[in-house]
Amino acid sequence: ILEVSDLTQQFRSGDRQLTVLDHISFSVEEGTTCSIVGPSGSGKTTLLGLCAGLDRPTAGEVTLNDIPLGPLSEDERAEVRNKYVGFVFQTFQLVPTLTALENVMVPLELRGVKTAEVKEDARQLLAEVGLEERLHHYATQLSGGEQQRVAIARAFINKPKILFADEPTGNLDTETGGTIEKLLFDLNTINGTTLILVTHDLSLAEQCRRTIHLKNGAIERDERTGQPKMDQVNR
Ligand code: ATP
Repeated sequence: ILEVSDLTQQFRSGDRQLTVLDHISFSVEEGTTCSIVGPSGSGKTTLLGLCAGLDRPTAGEVTLNDIPLGPLSEDERAEVRNKYVGFVFQTFQLVPTLTALENVMVPLELRGVKTAEVKEDARQLLAEVGLEERLHHYATQLSGGEQQRVAIARAFINKPKILFADEPTGNLDTETGGTIEKLLFDLNTINGTTLILVTHDLSLAEQCRRTIHLKNGAIERDERTGQPKMDQVNR
């Protein structure tokens, strides 16, 4: 579902060129869970943003669901994202002036779906993440864990094939983080959503079937972790 080939990202810092990702290649099969770990500054967030089609690389190619993103215009890339990709940010990034329900409906409205049609879907999804009592709270009136649950519901409203999450539990206490973890892995086991997450939390990383270790912008180690699904044992 995701192919990264020879990906390089450089940023200009004054008159110096900083190579943040250096010829990275890997692919991720559909339906799996994969974590990306590594020291601060190793390029994890940059890599995730490129994989999700949020940014463009300096060189190399990302292919999402068999669609190479390189030749696409900004609008075409946004269309691919709206269709196949969900993204959960560490800092939630909800719209503060909208309610929980309205935040979850944003991606569908971007696709031109009428509000009335999506309201019921959004309501149901919020109920699934345990927020049926918080539908009409503004984002600013929610706790961190509640905001992250709204963010996950929003990322999932389009039923993405692939969900990217950048430190999804990074700003949460252990118990709330546990609830969020379960929600994410449930999306994988129940819906088959491919999950790719960046984390500092090694116990979270180990629950994924695969862990990619980044160091200085390169893959240092790519290991099988967690429990494989039964259908993958025989492959
Ligand atoms: P952390 O774990 O601390 O979040 P990370 O592994 O996610 O780190 P990135 O956020 O990908 O690392 O950043 C990698 C490097 O790229 C950093 O040195 C950062 O300063 C640099 N960098 C990231 N984005 C930009 C940008 N837009 N312009 C210039 N430099 C950038």
